Amino acid sequence: TRIDMAKFAKFCKDMGFVYQSSEIYGGINGFWDYGPLGVELKRNIKEAWWQDMVRNPPPGPSGQEIRMVGLDCSIIMNPKVWVASGHVATFADPTRKCPGCGKFTRADQLWAILAESDWMNSLLQEFDPVTGKYDSPRLMKWAKGKGQKLAPNLALVKNPEVTLSFLATRVNGQPEAPPSLQEFTRYVATEQLEATGLQEPCPACGAPLGEAKQVSLMFESHAGLDKTEESKVYLRPETAQGIFANYRNVLDSTRLKLPFGIAQVGKAFRNEVTPRNFTFRSREFEQMEIEFFCHPAESQQWYEYWRDLRKKWYSTLGIQSDNLKPREQGADEVAFYSIGTTDIEYLFPFSDDPQELEGVAHRGAYDLGQHAKHSGMAEKFMYFDEERWNADSAGRTTNSFKEWMKTNPPAADVEKYQFTPHVIEPSAGADRFTLAVLCEAYTEDKVPDAKGNEETRVVMKFHPRLAPIKAAIFPLVNKDGMPERATALYRALKPHFNVFYDDKGAVGRRYRRQDEAGTPFCITIDGQTAEDDTVTIRDRDTLKQERVKVADVRGVIEKALTP
Ligand code: ATP
Repeated sequence: TRIDMAKFAKFCKDMGFVYQSSEIYGGINGFWDYGPLGVELKRNIKEAWWQDMVRNPPPGPSGQEIRMVGLDCSIIMNPKVWVASGHVATFADPTRKCPGCGKFTRADQLWAILAESDWMNSLLQEFDPVTGKYDSPRLMKWAKGKGQKLAPNLALVKNPEVTLSFLATRVNGQPEAPPSLQEFTRYVATEQLEATGLQEPCPACGAPLGEAKQVSLMFESHAGLDKTEESKVYLRPETAQGIFANYRNVLDSTRLKLPFGIAQVGKAFRNEVTPRNFTFRSREFEQMEIEFFCHPAESQQWYEYWRDLRKKWYSTLGIQSDNLKPREQGADEVAFYSIGTTDIEYLFPFSDDPQELEGVAHRGAYDLGQHAKHSGMAEKFMYFDEERWNADSAGRTTNSFKEWMKTNPPAADVEKYQFTPHVIEPSAGADRFTLAVLCEAYTEDKVPDAKGNEETRVVMKFHPRLAPIKAAIFPLVNKDGMPERATALYRALKPHFNVFYDDKGAVGRRYRRQDEAGTPFCITIDGQTAEDDTVTIRDRDTLKQERVKVADVRGVIEKALTP
C-alpha cells in the first residue's frame, strides 16, 4: 500500500524518528537528522548487521566457519584512491540543466521525478473526473512550442469509458479496484508525455530541458590551508575503498587465510542531483559494506552464499517477503567489471517499482587489480594459497612453490596457487534499511479504548531487536509503593537494554504512546505486585497481558531480543 510520504515524514518528525537537517533555517536538501527514537533504531540496525554478519555469520556452503573482521577507515583518503577506483573519472550522473529556472534534473530518473513534481501536479487540476476529459491548454502550448501536436494519445483519456478501463488495468492491474484520481492522472500525464515524444520537460517549471551532461557526484574539499588543485580531496562516496586500500594491512596484521571478509559501517557522501523520497536518496548517508575475498574458483559459490544470506537477513528482521524483491541485474545494467550483481529491492510505499536496499556484487579481481596497478605495489595484492599448494603436493618432485615456478608450469596451473583474490561485495545502506523498517512497521489498526469502543491506533510493529525502546515500565498509579517498585525494576533492566519509565496520565494513553514508538513490551506494576511480586507484561501486537514474576521479566524480554 502507498503511504503519503509527506504525511509519513511528519509522523516521523512528530515521534522523533527523523528530522530535516537544520530545519530552523529552512533545511538543506538531501540531509537528515535522526531524533531520539530514530537514533536508537538506526543503531540497532547497524548493531544487528555487525552481530549477524561480522561476529556470527552462519557457516559457509560446506559447513566451514566464516572468518570476518572489521575496519573503521577515514572519510577523507588520498585522492589517488578515487583515481584508482574509477570514481574521479566516472562517478557521475547524466544531468540536465533547465534553461528556464536553472534547476538540475537527473536525466535517467526524469520520468519518476516528473510524476511527483509540482508541475505535473498542477496539470492534474486540468483533469475533469466527471467527463474524464483531460485538456491542458498549458501542455498544448508547450508542446506546440516544441513543434509537436498533442492529439492521438490524449484522445484516449477524453473518453470516460476507455479511461476507466485503462485506469483499472494499467494502474492497478485489476479492474475492480480503480486507483485514486491523483494516481491515475499522474500516471496518464506521464505516459502521454512519453508517448508523444515530449521527453524533457523540467519537473520544476515545465520548460523543455537542455542536453544531458555527466556531472560528478563527488563532494570536494581541501586538506590543509592552501586551497589549490594539489590539496583537493574528496569525501568518500562509499566505504568499500577503505577496505581495499587496507587489504594487505589486514592480511598482515591478522594472518587470515582466504576466504575471509572485511566489514565496515560508516558515512558516505554523494552530491546527488535530485535527493528525494524522504531519506531514500540523501547526500550524506551510512553504508554497511562487506568485501569478501576468496579464491577465483570458489567465487561463484560465495556470491550465492552472500546473496541468499543477505536476502534472508531482511526477512528475519521483519521485512515481509512480499515486499522484498531480489533481482539479478541484466547484462545491460551490470557494471563492466562485475561477474554478477543482485539488487535486493524493497517495495517502498512511495513507488510502484521496488527500489534498491542493497547490491550484492561479484566484482571479480577488479578492485584489488586496480589498486595493484595504481599503487605500484602489485606484489601486495597477489595471494599465495599455501594451504592449497600443500594439499596438492602429492606426486610433485619440486620442494617449494619457488622451485616449481622455475619449471615453467602452465599459467592456468600457477593461477590455482597464486592469484589476485576475487571479491564478493554485499553493500547495504543503513539509512535506506531504516526507512524500509519504518515503512514496514507503520500500521493502523483498531483496538478497544478505555470504554470498550473501537479506536484507531498507530502502531510501529518493529522487530524487537530493532525497536528503539524494548520495554516501558509503568506504575499503575503514583502511590501505594508502586512508583518505588517500578523504579527498582527500571533500574534493574536499564543496564541490559533500552527501557523507558512513564508515570504520566492514564495507563491506556501510556500504552498508546508506546505503540507509536514501537515498544514491544509494556510492564505495569499494580496493586497485586506488592502481594505476589508479579507484574503484567503487555504485548504490543497481540495486546495480550500476561502476569509474570518480577524476577522473570528480564528473561522474557531477552528471549525476544535473541537472534
Ligand atoms: P542508486 O542506483 O540508488 O543511486 P547505487 O546503485 O549507486 O544506488 P551503490 O553504489 O550500490 O548504490 O551503494 C550501495 C548502497 O548504498 C545502496 O544499495 C543504498 O542502500 C546505499 N545508497 C547509495 N546511495 C544512497 C543515497 N544517495 N542515499 C541513501 N543511501 C544510498
